[in-house]
Amino acid sequence: MSQDSTKRNELTQEEKRVIINKGTERPFTGKYEDHKEEGVYICKQCGSPLYNSSDKFDAHCGWPSFDDEIPGAVEKHVDADGVRTEITCSNCGGHLGHVFTGEGFTEKNVRHCVNSISMDFIPADQIKLSDKQEVAIFAGGCFWGVEHLFKKTTGVLETEVGYIGGYKANPTYEEVCSHTTGHAEALRVTFDPGLIGFEELAKLFFEIHDPTQVNRQGPDIGDQYRSEIFYTNNSQKRISENLIKILESKGLKVATKLTSATTFWQAERYHQDYYAKTGGTPYCHIYTKRF
Ligand SMILES: [Zn+2]
Repeated sequence: MSQDSTKRNELTQEEKRVIINKGTERPFTGKYEDHKEEGVYICKQCGSPLYNSSDKFDAHCGWPSFDDEIPGAVEKHVDADGVRTEITCSNCGGHLGHVFTGEGFTEKNVRHCVNSISMDFIPADQIKLSDKQEVAIFAGGCFWGVEHLFKKTTGVLETEVGYIGGYKANPTYEEVCSHTTGHAEALRVTFDPGLIGFEELAKLFFEIHDPTQVNRQGPDIGDQYRSEIFYTNNSQKRISENLIKILESKGLKVATKLTSATTFWQAERYHQDYYAKTGGTPYCHIYTKRF
């Protein structure tokens, strides 16, 4: 998979019609519509990984369908029709298709409807180990500060702030702040497990917020500021349980909840990299050595 984010592949006329001019291939004609191999779907134009085959499902709609994207790979915009949500490759901006929610196809209740022609496929056995990525999701108060402190860590490939753990699709910041959706402000961290382990990231998480505070972090009060780890595999769960035991053995009354990750809803663009954009420093998060 491409390491050079500026690389662009030559496109055919038909590829240009869809990828550049936002066209749509005819249903049931694309080569990945009924494709069931294990591997990763990448952007035809720039080679960036977009979707894992494990998130592909059969919607019988005529186009490849996925209920999740590789973190950070896909951007969503209001379509030119003003109604649908267009999806594009977040690296090169190439048109992929549209995303729909609330149709009830899978538990995540999301359908990325993607043109086959916008993608290429790499079978699992050809994916190099160095391309391995893992995702961790931490909620520990205002997500601006959490992102600021994780971003600088070696091995962290990508960070994204958003909302998780509630019961409304596509929540807005205002809805989350109104305490009616049950979401926590959270950070999704994509990391290279060859460079940093989940345990080190989780230790950092426990050291940059106060895990003993219930439904608040310093001046920020409310259930959206609760302390919670949304684990994405069983190993993360075990490591988190172990770290909580260590903190408890040191006398801390840990309030951090452990929950299996559900849909992570990306926050509005102005919240992403907030401190990097505004030049400020977090008021709510400071590092305290606890391990
Ligand atoms: Zn691309």
